[in-house]
Amino acid sequence: MDLSLTEEQHAFRALARDFLEREAVPHRMQWDHDESVDLAIVPRMAELGFFGLTIPEEYGGVGGDYVTYSLAMEELGRADSALRGIVSVSSGLVGKSILFHGTEEQKQEWLPQLAAATRLGCFGLTEPGTGSDAGNLTSRATRDPSTGSGHAAPDWVINGQKLFITNGTWADVALVFARTSDDGPRGITAFLVPTDSPGFEAREITGKLGLRGQATAELFLHDVRVPDSARLGEVGQGFKIAMGTLDKGRLAVASGCVGIVQGCLEASVAYATQRRQFGRPIASFQLVQDLIADMSVDADAARLLAWRCADLIDRGEPYGVAASKAKLFASEAAVRAANNAIQVHGGAGYVDDFPVAKYLRDARVMTLYEGTSQIQKLLIGRDETGISAFV
Ligand code: FAD
Repeated sequence: MDLSLTEEQHAFRALARDFLEREAVPHRMQWDHDESVDLAIVPRMAELGFFGLTIPEEYGGVGGDYVTYSLAMEELGRADSALRGIVSVSSGLVGKSILFHGTEEQKQEWLPQLAAATRLGCFGLTEPGTGSDAGNLTSRATRDPSTGSGHAAPDWVINGQKLFITNGTWADVALVFARTSDDGPRGITAFLVPTDSPGFEAREITGKLGLRGQATAELFLHDVRVPDSARLGEVGQGFKIAMGTLDKGRLAVASGCVGIVQGCLEASVAYATQRRQFGRPIASFQLVQDLIADMSVDADAARLLAWRCADLIDRGEPYGVAASKAKLFASEAAVRAANNAIQVHGGAGYVDDFPVAKYLRDARVMTLYEGTSQIQKLLIGRDETGISAFV
């Protein structure tokens, strides 16, 4: 097994690190304070290829491999998880859903714009009443029999509410999952809904613990009308599309968490080697080295799990459980590392002069979204035992 990176992968990582050190790291605290990143950075990130990495060249992307994608997500997580989320939801969750399930017209229409980030997407699955239990969502899409004629199928009319939707107030297109029959998860269908459609409203959720630079919204759909050509995949396939897409999304979260652990490690080493107590650098105390050693091992272990998952995707092999393991371990490691990094910094870690408090606030959601740690354990447990805890 070859764990070394190719020259291209090294080069992309260096380019990404250099760009983010210049364009994101100096501003991340301000964005966090303002509760919005400066969106002027988005087209510059797109120029570098962040948004098009896994979109094929024929649709305006870079057509890169998933190990490179994992490296990009790690660098984004190290710099600012708010930026990482913008990319991994818009070109990741939405772009990949379109790439794998869209018609040729849908791919031509949306993928080049998502790769160039001239349009942003959001992924509307969670609802006030259904988070982990997404298969029971209640937003509803019904056909309007008064429309459609000849070969044209009738329009769909969508009603419902979505909660905690990343990019919600910034997105041009929302991938909305809605119920088209009462057949449980098999009764859900996916739709590409332009956010300027009459009856569509996005309201920003403010006051989040972390990821404050990222827009998170509540979506309201009131008699939103879309043509049948806005349907993504077959009727009733929506839940399968969502779950398949989230498997790849979990690689992005896991890799972003590797970046958080790495950032905590670097910040802690820098602080511990210059901060002196009892006449010595605190890095010379074994109990401080214990905290740093744990971060170092967590960074390696989380990165290897993420790369294993990325490599499986690149080789076309099943990767769902590997994605769950990487996401579970890396997200828990990110919380642990950020918490320990604050310990290394003492009181200085509790204020925003150093990045570690923000790392902890940003890390906290990673064990919750795209499937909580408990849900990842149920998926891994199902794989090991052959018995599903989901009914
Ligand atoms: P619940 O499902 O109510 O879970 C509450 C607790 O119960 C958790 O600890 C959970 O693990 C536990 N639990 C639930 N079921 C079980 C079970 N069967 N066994 C054991 N324990 C269980 N959603 C989107 O669709 N798109 C987005 O872009 C998006 N972005 C988000 C951004 C942020 C900042 C946040 C906070 C959330 C986002 N979400 C998004 C929603 C996120 O995916 C959900 O919050 C998550 O899936 C958990 O659902 P919930 O909050 O309803 O918690």
